[in-house]
Amino acid sequence: MKNDKILVTKSSMPKYEDFIEMIKPLWETHWLTNMGEYHSQLEKELKDYLKVSGISLMVNGHMALELALQAFSFTPGSEIITTPFTFISTTHAIVRNGYKPVFCDTKEIDGTIDESKIEALITEKTVAILPVHVYGNVCNVEAIEQIADKYNLKVIYDAAHAFGVEYKGRGIGSFGDASTFSFHATKVFNTIEGGAVTFSDSSMYKKLYDLKNFGIRSQEIVSEVGANAKMNEMCAIMGLCNMKRIDTVFEERKKRVEYYEELLKDVPNINFIKGSDIGSRNYAYFPVLIGNKTSELRDKVYATLENNSIYARKYFYPITSDQACFKNGFKNVKLDVARNMANRVLTLPLYEDLEMSDIDRIVNIIKNEVAN
Ligand SMILES: *Cc1c(COP(=O)(O)O)cnc(C)c1O
Repeated sequence: MKNDKILVTKSSMPKYEDFIEMIKPLWETHWLTNMGEYHSQLEKELKDYLKVSGISLMVNGHMALELALQAFSFTPGSEIITTPFTFISTTHAIVRNGYKPVFCDTKEIDGTIDESKIEALITEKTVAILPVHVYGNVCNVEAIEQIADKYNLKVIYDAAHAFGVEYKGRGIGSFGDASTFSFHATKVFNTIEGGAVTFSDSSMYKKLYDLKNFGIRSQEIVSEVGANAKMNEMCAIMGLCNMKRIDTVFEERKKRVEYYEELLKDVPNINFIKGSDIGSRNYAYFPVLIGNKTSELRDKVYATLENNSIYARKYFYPITSDQACFKNGFKNVKLDVARNMANRVLTLPLYEDLEMSDIDRIVNIIKNEVAN
C-alpha cells in the first residue's frame, strides 16, 4: 500500500519550461506589476473565456469581493442577504466593508441559497443579495433576479468556485450586477494567488481600476479610499500558462468525478450535492453528505481517511455564522438546512492527476465506515 499523503487537492501547474519561457521578457522590461502587458493579456483572454462583457483582475478572490462590494458605495450598516454555507471570505468581505450580513438558509440539493427564503429577510435596510455558486453549483439566478428587481437590490455573486461554468449558454459571471472569481492555487484555474470581478456595467472597470490601486485617480488626485489589490505580472503569466491547459484540466477532473459518482451512487448514507443539471459543471470539488442528522458518521469517515494519510476536508463546516468571530453578532435566522449540511459534508480529494486506484481506495474506506 502506498504511504504517500493524498491531500484534498493539488495545485494545477504548467510545464516548468513553458512558464520559464513566458517570464523571460520580464528580465528585459523590468515591468513586474501595476497593470502590465500580461495583466492586460489575461484580462482579455478571460473576458472571452468567461463570456462576460467586463472584467477586472485582482490580487486574490477575497479582495475581488471586498472591492466589488465597495464599488457600490452602500450606506454603512446596510444589510446584505447572504449564505452561511461558504468559505469565511464571503462573510468577511461584507463585514469588513461595514455592512451587516443577514444569513439565509440553503437548499440541500445543491448547497446554494434558498431563494424561497430570501424575501422574508428583506427590510428597509437591505441593499443587496450576495449568493455563492458553491462547489460550482449554479444558484437560481432567475428567481434571485426577480426578487432583486422587485425590491431594487443589487446582486453580487461569489463565483469563486464557478470558473468556466455556463448557464443557458451564458457565462456564469454575466449574471447579477457583479460576480467575483478566485484564482487561488487550490482552485480549478489558478494564477498562484489571484481573482477577478466581472460585470456588465462598463463604468465598473474604471471604478475597480482605481479601487485596486489605492483610489488613485491621477498623479496628484486620490479620490477614494482604495486598497492595493493589483495582480502582478508573474501571476498573470501563470494564468496565461494555465489557460492553455484548462480544457485538459476539466476533462481529467470530470473523469475522476464521474468515477467517484459511479462507485458511490448506491451506497447508503452517502448523498451528492450536485443539484439538478441546471448549468454546466466544472468539477471543482467533490463534496458528499454523509449520514443523516449529526456529524458523527462524517467525523468517523474523516478520521479513518486521515489514518490512511488521506486528507479530505470538512468544506464547509461550521457555517460562517457559527464561527467565533460572528456568532451571535447578527440577526438570528433559522439556518437548519445549512447547519445540517455543514455537519455532514465531506469534500473528497480531487485533482487532475489523482490516480483512479486512489479513488478506489478512498471509496472502499468510506464504504467500510458507513456500513459499520
Ligand atoms: C477561495 C474562496 C474565496 C477567496 O478567494 P481567495 O482567492 O482565496 O482570496 C472566496 N469565496 C469562496 C467561496 C472561496 O472558496
